[in-house]
Amino acid sequence: MRAEVLIVGGGMVGATLAALLGEAGVAVTVLDARPAPLAKSDLAGMPPGRRVSAITPVSQRLLTGLGAWEAIQACRVTPYTEMRVWDAQGSGEIAFEAAQAGVAALGHIVENDVVLAALEARLATLPSVTQRFGAVIEGLQTEAGGAAHLTLEGGETLSAPLVVAADGARSRLRTLAGIDAAPHDTGQVAVVTTVRTALPHGGVARQVFLPTGPLAFLPLTLAGEPRYCSIVWSTSPEEAERLVALPRAALGEALEAAFEGRLGEVDVIDDALAVPLVQRHAERYVRPGLALIGDAAHSIHPLAGQGVNLGLMDAAVLAEELLAARRRGIAPGNARILARYARRRRGDNAAMLALMDGFRLLFGATHPALTLARNLGLSGVDRATPLKRLLMRQAIGERGRLPLSCR
Ligand SMILES: Cc1cc2nc3c(=O)[nH]c(=O)nc-3n(C[C@H](O)[C@H](O)[C@H](O)COP(=O)(O)OP(=O)(O)OC[C@H]3O[C@@H](n4cnc5c(N)ncnc54)[C@H](O)[C@@H]3O)c2cc1C
Repeated sequence: MRAEVLIVGGGMVGATLAALLGEAGVAVTVLDARPAPLAKSDLAGMPPGRRVSAITPVSQRLLTGLGAWEAIQACRVTPYTEMRVWDAQGSGEIAFEAAQAGVAALGHIVENDVVLAALEARLATLPSVTQRFGAVIEGLQTEAGGAAHLTLEGGETLSAPLVVAADGARSRLRTLAGIDAAPHDTGQVAVVTTVRTALPHGGVARQVFLPTGPLAFLPLTLAGEPRYCSIVWSTSPEEAERLVALPRAALGEALEAAFEGRLGEVDVIDDALAVPLVQRHAERYVRPGLALIGDAAHSIHPLAGQGVNLGLMDAAVLAEELLAARRRGIAPGNARILARYARRRRGDNAAMLALMDGFRLLFGATHPALTLARNLGLSGVDRATPLKRLLMRQAIGERGRLPLSCR
């Protein structure tokens, strides 16, 4: 079957778009450089992956509609009903509770590989979707009339009315298309690992703002035991290098001290990994025959756990626009249709990127006046019910006009 849409990058975002289009019978080919798909059977019995995401209730609705959430739940997923954020340099603290937002959970912590395995299993059931692995893209050409041609390593060429770049933060397609996305170095590196704590997490996602950056303990329940956390410790590159080189016992002590012992003794159960944190925003999301989604369009500091949720929303909005156009007989690479997608997504993503920058700068500041303002602000927001409710709705993904697949 000739593809109507070629998706480069079968990560969580690209696979979601493929599933949304495939369910409507659109002929889609997903190309990924990875050598093979992930199988859920490979994950069962494995230690948890270090890369996890906080999936919002809105993203959960999208994945449920695609039939992927059931498979995710059957594997490993931890709901959290409370978020607690505090400032290590003062007394300010804020707590968000699911009941205040009128939801059963504020979100779920899920390993990225678990989400991906569930989506890949769903794609395998859709007859109009082809998944190709070990496919490395070397060339891209787009036509003003809205068609695109890809050249793969080895010389094979593929053409379709639309190519979607879902190939992550360092998108090769974005570079080949000459779309600028100047990196904005946050000056931080995330140290990620998994720990077991003496005290149970109680379904609470916790984050402390240290002078060097935020440290998050994201709750994980393994084999029914609610005493595990995924760690995302954003700090200076020098400190990250030092932390990653520590023996596990010493890293556990450093984590316990930085976290003010809130979950008691900390046992590190996996090697720590350092991930540089670079924010990027593509100067444009589309051109005729090409659309950027997910991290290929924007990468964001993980402090509010929004990255993949924004990408899933890109996929849902792009699918909605393409399917509405298809019903009217308009081809997927049409410039007007793609512009509608860009208009609906770029502003929301830009606002979230700016908010993350603001948080990072405010909490990184050591000036006493800013420290005071920050603490008064945190505690003030905690007491101001309408503002707190607004922030909670943002955090759970209830922003603007949601695509139908997310309502
Ligand atoms: C430390 C850390 C913590 C985070 N925590 C959260 C969180 O709690 N919540 C949240 O929402 N987000 C979080 N994020 C962000 C989230 O991980 C990303 O937004 C998400 O993974 C992006 O998904 P994607 O599908 O767009 O890109 P990727 O996951 O990067 O997938 C890209 C895919 O493209 C393929 N590919 C790449 N290049 C090519 C090529 N040339 N040819 C073919 N295929 C190619 C890759 O193999 C890959 O499968 C976090 C990020 C970091 C760094």
